[in-house]
Amino acid sequence: MIDKDLEGLTELAKEVKEENIKYFKRLKKRVPKRLDLVVREIHEEEFERTDCLTCGNCCKTTSPMFTHKDIERIAKHLKMKVADFITQYLKIDEDDFHVLKTAPCSFLDERDNSCFIYDVRPKACSEYPHTNRKKFIQLADITVKNTEICPATYRIMEELKKRLPSS
Ligand code: SF4
Ligand code: SF4
Repeated sequence: MIDKDLEGLTELAKEVKEENIKYFKRLKKRVPKRLDLVVREIHEEEFERTDCLTCGNCCKTTSPMFTHKDIERIAKHLKMKVADFITQYLKIDEDDFHVLKTAPCSFLDERDNSCFIYDVRPKACSEYPHTNRKKFIQLADITVKNTEICPATYRIMEELKKRLPSS
């Protein structure tokens, strides 16, 4: 079984992209005090229903940022030298961050969308799609982008516009 919105996600996200950009633009003019609370509630409800193992799209299409701590932890777990781990798996992106060389992620088991290094995965992976973060308004741009990758983020945004309309 795959996530119900994954197949048509590109089209779905494209249809609401402008609307989402405008929504955040209006919201930024006067950020509601309850914004973080409401998004967090929606996030929790969404991930009670959503099983990421039926999707895996973030691991298949984008790369997390690997911090130095992430790299040290994962290299240790894999019994590799830090330098060898970097050479084998990572490159530097245009913002000077370490990211994966390849997509899908080398650590994704594509048979069931599980992660070979789940317990030591990068912090960015454990926090994705960041819809339960404080000061959510600061993540407006990345959230709009993530609706094209993550069906759960698409649904969270649709629900947020209903529960917290901006006018
Ligand atoms: S490290 Fe694991 S959770 Fe992170 S992108 Fe790769 S497979 Fe996904
Ligand atoms: S976080 Fe989003 S994109 Fe990643 S596996 Fe879960 S539903 Fe899919």
